[in-house]
Amino acid sequence: MTNRQMMPLQDKIIRNSNFTEVALGFDLKQVHLEASRCLDCKDPRCVKACPVKINIPKFIKEILEEKYEVAYQTIYEDNILPSVCGRVCPQENQCEGDCILGIKFESVSIGALERFLGDYSLKHQIFKQENIIDNGHKVAVIGSGPAGLSFAASIRRLGYKTDIYEALHDYGGVLRYGIPEFRLPKAVVGQEIQRLESLGIQFNKNTIIGKTLTVEQLMKEYDYKALFIASGAGLPRSLNIQGENLNGVYYANEFLTRVNLMKAYQFPKHPTPVKVGDTVCVVGGGNVAMDAARVAKRLGSKNVFILYRRDMNALPARKEEVEHAVEEGIEFNLLLNPVEIIGKDYEVQAVKAEIMELGELDQSGRHRPMPTGQFKTIKIDSCIIAIGQSPNPILKNTTKDLKTDKKDRIMVKGYQTSIPGVFAGGDIVTGAATVIEAMGAGKCAAEEIDKYIKDTFS
Ligand SMILES: Cc1cc2nc3c(=O)[nH]c(=O)nc-3n(C[C@H](O)[C@H](O)[C@H](O)COP(=O)(O)OP(=O)(O)OC[C@H]3O[C@@H](n4cnc5c(N)ncnc54)[C@H](O)[C@@H]3O)c2cc1C
Repeated sequence: MTNRQMMPLQDKIIRNSNFTEVALGFDLKQVHLEASRCLDCKDPRCVKACPVKINIPKFIKEILEEKYEVAYQTIYEDNILPSVCGRVCPQENQCEGDCILGIKFESVSIGALERFLGDYSLKHQIFKQENIIDNGHKVAVIGSGPAGLSFAASIRRLGYKTDIYEALHDYGGVLRYGIPEFRLPKAVVGQEIQRLESLGIQFNKNTIIGKTLTVEQLMKEYDYKALFIASGAGLPRSLNIQGENLNGVYYANEFLTRVNLMKAYQFPKHPTPVKVGDTVCVVGGGNVAMDAARVAKRLGSKNVFILYRRDMNALPARKEEVEHAVEEGIEFNLLLNPVEIIGKDYEVQAVKAEIMELGELDQSGRHRPMPTGQFKTIKIDSCIIAIGQSPNPILKNTTKDLKTDKKDRIMVKGYQTSIPGVFAGGDIVTGAATVIEAMGAGKCAAEEIDKYIKDTFS
């Protein structure tokens, strides 16, 4: 059996001071070697494990036959963002996690092959115009993240006039404002989204539903037969400790948005500076924390460390992201729980943290962090809080009868909310999850809404 191909990476010494992409993609030889490892299983478990059900063995076979354009079309039928997903999906928990080959050897590198095809199609401008026949009905989408985009493409293909309303001044949700450039170049996001416009989807930016327009207005005054809410979980969770409002304390979403969407890393060319200083503390152990830490390093901080209340084994971030962070010089201050951010003259100066020890296993299967009553103070210049996100309550607060749970997630049956004709999916329903899960929700919601409209209006 041929070994799994290794993804070529930008040199670790060089890359932590630039924003260009870390993972460079397979060359054609690697693509063929990797594709040749697929066993073409009769009952492909990889397809079942993919939330959008891409026909993986088929596109891999087409790669081996050098039919790259056909292979791309195979993916595109089920996934409108292959270049994005090939880069950011946690494949180890999805398609690759269930690859039979992974039992005895290493699984096929499906994500890298998907990325190759997505990029091939962008490079060679391969895109088949679809012949869509309008069915006379209109639907609206709130949010242009992966859930909203996937929904829009699926429902538009069924003939619905589809309008997306996006609060920000650019489209893509977390793909645009959250995931850093060096993991997901914005040019890739932009090009894949642009293709959706050619399907006839109407994009409306700078439109906050709940402020510019309400859900009620969209349904009553704009004649939409149904509405899909895909507004994500963009509200940062706070630590609720003293000092959180000092200058130099950021929430990861705000920090990453300034850097990505507002291009702070190109200051002064783009007028949004982000001041980080020499020593940066990032609180949290997930993917968002790793992204924030790696961005802070690239902005020029000398010492960037993760402050996390458990140990290295319990970090919720993807293994690959942790490895990349370590390679780039990010330090890990573990078993520490922040209790105060200390400042002077409104500026952050230090973080005080309680030293923890590992206790019994908790429900998540990880050792519970137990307070020891001992504390440590570390001098810092800025602090980035990355301990999770929740849905923004604006839609709940402005939409009568829209039921949400205690965490402000919209409650649904299937994808139907408590209001007839209003559906929801993605992070706004599940809480923070993954790109491909949000896309899967968008795709399935389109089928459900199509049925609802046909049953209700014909
Ligand atoms: C920093 C970061 C890194 C991540 N990295 C990965 C990764 O590597 N791999 C992975 O699979 N997942 C990753 N995730 C998670 C993943 O990005 C999300 O699960 C996914 O984007 C959710 O998609 P969504 O469409 O539901 O919401 P979002 O992507 O959040 O999109 C929601 C959109 O709705 C808009 N919106 C919100 N409210 C309104 C309103 N009232 N009116 C109009 N528009 C509105 C928002 O501006 C946004 O554009 C990451 C998340 C973050 C924050």
